Amino acid sequence: MHTEEAIFSVLVGLVVGSFLNVCIHRLPKGESLVRPASRCPVCSVPIRWYDNIPVLSFLLLGGRCRGCGGRISWLYPAVEALTGMLFLLTMLRFGLGVRTIFLLAFLCGLVVVTFIDLDHEIIPHAVTLPGIPLGLIASLITRDPSPRDAAAGALVGAGLVYLVAVYAEVAFQRESMGGGDINLLAMIGAFLGWRQVFLSFFLAVGAGACLSLLLIATGVLSRKDRIPFGPFLALGAVVALFGGDGLIDWYWRLLR
Ligand SMILES: [Zn+2]
Repeated sequence: MHTEEAIFSVLVGLVVGSFLNVCIHRLPKGESLVRPASRCPVCSVPIRWYDNIPVLSFLLLGGRCRGCGGRISWLYPAVEALTGMLFLLTMLRFGLGVRTIFLLAFLCGLVVVTFIDLDHEIIPHAVTLPGIPLGLIASLITRDPSPRDAAAGALVGAGLVYLVAVYAEVAFQRESMGGGDINLLAMIGAFLGWRQVFLSFFLAVGAGACLSLLLIATGVLSRKDRIPFGPFLALGAVVALFGGDGLIDWYWRLLR
């Protein structure tokens, strides 16, 4: 890929990331995504376009509102930078094509779900429910994964979370995962197919278990705290998307 294409994909990602911030803050409140224009979270004064440039404005203004000087969360530029990076990675790995467009939409959905789940401990149906058919439609057009594989992926994804949720409720008498996680893993399966949805799930469980043990051991969390699982599923899906084929091949070679 040429340098200009790389820079262009990062810039598009940054601008899209700026819109994802709007989704992350407004979807849980049921507010419109288009109106009104972005406002300072402290003083509610509308943010001017030249103070709303992804990442750059945050750095230039030192993370403060130009009007009231109130602190702006570093999560805003972090979401923008993360989206820019994901756009670049996707272009580098898959090139410009129809599948890339669908994958970018998928990754945007994962970013929104991750930050809403971290903040509110809910996984918005407004993202995952349209995401499942979108993944299936993508498979009809791109054949990668095949439509049958995508449908199997959605079913396997939903089934895996459902089984673990039922098991955890019986075994530990507590709710581990909810309906939001079922829809999220079904969406991941619809986009990635059944092999990679398995991989996403086990990576998520592994990462979630390691981090939980670490946080409990260091006293940051207690045993009773509930850790949102959505971000781990999203992380597992990203790792499976970019490194999944290699990981699956490696695993099969281990078994042989
Ligand atoms: Zn302000």
